[in-house]
Amino acid sequence: MIARFSVFDGHNDVVLRLLAKGQSFFDRNPDGHIDLPRAQEGGLGGGFCAISVPGAHRQNLSGDLTEMVKRALAGHGDESTMPPPPEYGYSLNSTLEQMACLFRTEAQSGGRVKIVRTAEELAACLRDGVFAVLLHIEGAEAIDAELNALEVFYQAGLRSLGIVWSRPNIFGFGVPFKFGVSPDTGPGLTDAGKELVRVCNRLRMVVDVSHLNEKGFWDVARLTTAPIIATHSNAHALAPWTRNLTDPQLDAIRDSDGMVGLNFHVGFLRDDGDMANPDTPLSAMVRQIDYLVERVGIDRVGFGSDFDGAIMPADIGDSTGLPRLIDALRLAGYDDATLTKLAHGNWIRVLRQTWGE
Ligand code: ZN
Repeated sequence: MIARFSVFDGHNDVVLRLLAKGQSFFDRNPDGHIDLPRAQEGGLGGGFCAISVPGAHRQNLSGDLTEMVKRALAGHGDESTMPPPPEYGYSLNSTLEQMACLFRTEAQSGGRVKIVRTAEELAACLRDGVFAVLLHIEGAEAIDAELNALEVFYQAGLRSLGIVWSRPNIFGFGVPFKFGVSPDTGPGLTDAGKELVRVCNRLRMVVDVSHLNEKGFWDVARLTTAPIIATHSNAHALAPWTRNLTDPQLDAIRDSDGMVGLNFHVGFLRDDGDMANPDTPLSAMVRQIDYLVERVGIDRVGFGSDFDGAIMPADIGDSTGLPRLIDALRLAGYDDATLTKLAHGNWIRVLRQTWGE
């Protein structure tokens, strides 16, 4: 199948897999979801590449995704079993290792991979077939309370920050993975977290609300001067995991002219909450897109696959499966213009608004 639509995507964990498995981005790998050959085949033009400090669920697992999801669930049943934040020195080392891996990949790519710092650079990459890496931190454990690291990471190219992953840190509280309850699972942002949002606004860095609990979300919504962005979250009304967004949260995203990226992880798509069943039809993805589009508008929805960090529907498989999602959406009534918005246009729009260039 030939990819006709260039996709820019709100979330992947490719750098963790490359490091865990010692794999190269330039080789077609036998497992995982993204490398340059498969990205080109599937029309994946780039994405938010997450830098995320591995917790216990991810250590010593050689990147096995099914095992990783199982252990994340086992360790995050409720607040009392949430792991403590990893230690600062370890978090900083791990973050530098992952950022350096992406910079080395860019340097070795012969112009085929680029770290993008502006919306113009991103648009040019998609036009020219250069894989666009947007540096994103998921869980601010490597950022100190004085925000010195944030200033330095920004200068290095960091353009997006998720305050928390599914555990607490000095800035806020992530949601534990729970099904059938609301994301209102704990306290809001700390004072340091509120300052973090203000400084991100000053730097014009994306503040990502995916993984935040509901009080933290509303703190961001009240404080931020930028569009509210959830890089990889779905509609809670259709799949009531705490990781998904309630209708009032979606309304706030719409009112801020923000953005939601569809998470392809099977559990976050399904109404029965089954977290590990690849036998999840493309229609479950289309149903989520339809709902999100109706709630927040056709200009505020895109993809946030979670490639290399989640269990994909079998019909997607890996990044080569993206054209099948596009075809399913076309059959559901989306035309070329709206498919282009979903595939990358809306991400460019919201990043231009946030970054101011
Ligand atoms: Zn995530």
